[in-house]
Amino acid sequence: MPSVSASSPSARIKFWGTRGSIAVPGPETLRYGGNTTCVEIRADEEIIVLDAGSGIRPLGIALDREFQSRPIRLSLLITHAHWDHIQGFPFFKPAYGPKNEIRILGFDGAGATFREIMTEPMRSPFFPISMRELSAKTEIVKLTEMKFSLGKVDVHAAFVNHPGVCAGYRLFTSTGSIAFLPDHEPYQFLHSARDSDMNPEERIKIAEEQRIALVDFLHGSDILILDAQYTDAEYETHIGWGHGSVSSAVSLGLDAEVRRLLLFHHNPSHDDTMLDAMVDDARRLIRERGKDLQVDGAREGEEVLLPTDHANRCK
Ligand SMILES: [Zn+2]
Ligand SMILES: [Zn+2]
Repeated sequence: MPSVSASSPSARIKFWGTRGSIAVPGPETLRYGGNTTCVEIRADEEIIVLDAGSGIRPLGIALDREFQSRPIRLSLLITHAHWDHIQGFPFFKPAYGPKNEIRILGFDGAGATFREIMTEPMRSPFFPISMRELSAKTEIVKLTEMKFSLGKVDVHAAFVNHPGVCAGYRLFTSTGSIAFLPDHEPYQFLHSARDSDMNPEERIKIAEEQRIALVDFLHGSDILILDAQYTDAEYETHIGWGHGSVSSAVSLGLDAEVRRLLLFHHNPSHDDTMLDAMVDDARRLIRERGKDLQVDGAREGEEVLLPTDHANRCK
């Protein structure tokens, strides 16, 4: 899928939506952003969009402006069916351009096929334009394999711990790998799960096995974009809700020996000041463990280049 700016030798990551749950625009979220999950990757002549939260709307406007009369060809990779990961798609301008080609890929959900996940929200009475009426060449691809390719980019998928079916992805580009786990609760929650038929030892064994598999999946990633929705204090009252905390994100990033950790899926009730404090807290935890890991909060509008030495902030 060649395009002028997609052919640069570096992989480029751009954050169009960093928020979890619901969009919260306003003066208090200007720096980290108010739009829900959407990340654009340009690598190896591919345009790969991760999730279609409300951030996909400004991405669509930017793509239209960039490509003008040239066709836009892209892959949209969906982690799961929750609103904050799909609700922006009906407002993605390139989907209304007959010259454009959009492949939408994801796994079947709990009680819904992937096709239903993408088409049902665009049915009357929820939305006035159906998926079938979109004028771009749109293909919905149900994923059945945990390893596949998008052009020259190899993608590995793993199911993570989040209500329903939720995937995490790791993209292997020619200049480094990017792992994307926007929604994930640490498996240790099983240690304290109450409404489980399993005995405590069994639960702990499963939690440990799952965590080892996830650390293996993420091991050595250049960038890890990871759910850190809660402070550690908030997490105590949200165990089992499907999201992680600052310390669980740091601990997974350190154990998986990733090069850079970006805290993501910001809580809609956290303003910029609160998110600054959470990032400081993550850095303190890393120092206390005597480790060296670059950690930041993902910010809407920010671009990150791979190799990571050339990390570049726009905002
Ligand atoms: Zn979410
Ligand atoms: Zn979710």
